[in-house]
Amino acid sequence: MCSFSFEIFPPRKDESIKNLNTILDDLGQLSPNFISVTFGAGGSVNSKNTLETATLIQDQYKFPSIVHLPCIHANKDKITTILKQCKERKLEKILALRGDVCNSVEKSKDFSYASDLISFIQEEGGFEIYAACYPEKHNEAKNFIEDIHHLKIKVNSGTNKLITQLFYDNETFYTFKQNCALANINIPIYAGIMPITNKRQVLKISQLCGAKIPPKFTKILEKYENNTLALEDAGIAYAIDQIVDLITSGVDGIHLYTMNKSKAAIKIYEAVKHLLKEELCVEKQS
Ligand code: FAD
Repeated sequence: MCSFSFEIFPPRKDESIKNLNTILDDLGQLSPNFISVTFGAGGSVNSKNTLETATLIQDQYKFPSIVHLPCIHANKDKITTILKQCKERKLEKILALRGDVCNSVEKSKDFSYASDLISFIQEEGGFEIYAACYPEKHNEAKNFIEDIHHLKIKVNSGTNKLITQLFYDNETFYTFKQNCALANINIPIYAGIMPITNKRQVLKISQLCGAKIPPKFTKILEKYENNTLALEDAGIAYAIDQIVDLITSGVDGIHLYTMNKSKAAIKIYEAVKHLLKEELCVEKQS
């Protein structure tokens, strides 16, 4: 079965709490397998907004939620407290992350990599553990081989499922999958897709995460950069094209980075819902 899920970020102000309810009302109509909630590593490890949003998704909207949990600026006590709070709230899915390093904040003495956190959560028990992976390699890794080797350590530490960084070229994902298979990484890998609705945003995010922009996509950005609605249409169509190809090729899951906007997610779901259901039927028959 092809999983279909969303990533959102937690609200920071009252105004955005109202916005969050609207988004969740919309996303809830699309029967997601889960909704994951980000957690800013940026130094101050404040889990409150993430946990409250994840709890709201499960208790009010009745969908499983995944709590993102970065560790690079947290110690074991802090992580133990957060895991305890998760259990009390029945939040049993964790996306275990190293997080981006914030140079002005002291680094953790207990956790250097996501794999350290994964082993720690595994020992604690009672959680389904997700981890991040990078079809175009993580930007700090020297090369692909080294990155896959580190990913293998992460998987062996107790990861149940992987979610990829966003990518715009499916071929990089298929090559990555082959490399994972060669390294005997056989757990489900969900493809992270971000529908683009804004040129500045796409360039900034791609630069941050190192996602290549294929020529076909550059053409769209250049042609429609000053026409918001046209760019939005083209960006959604591009994401649909990627997703159709991924589902047809048997991807384990599609994880949409929504940037807390539901319009694109709704249009994408409408365009591929029968493909997702077809996958479900094939699964039931076999
Ligand atoms: P790791 O798996 O620890 O890898 C980090 C680097 O270290 C890589 O270059 C890897 O090759 C190397 N490495 C790993 N293990 C070893 C080892 N044993 N020895 C030597 N080198 C090693 N960030 C947030 O702050 N909050 C979020 O909510 C968030 N959500 C995300 C969701 C997804 C799906 C993805 C893909 C990323 C997310 N991020 C988030 C970003 C993430 O925190 C950064 O990409 C971060 O730089 C790496 O985190 P990681 O868990 O992949 O690190």
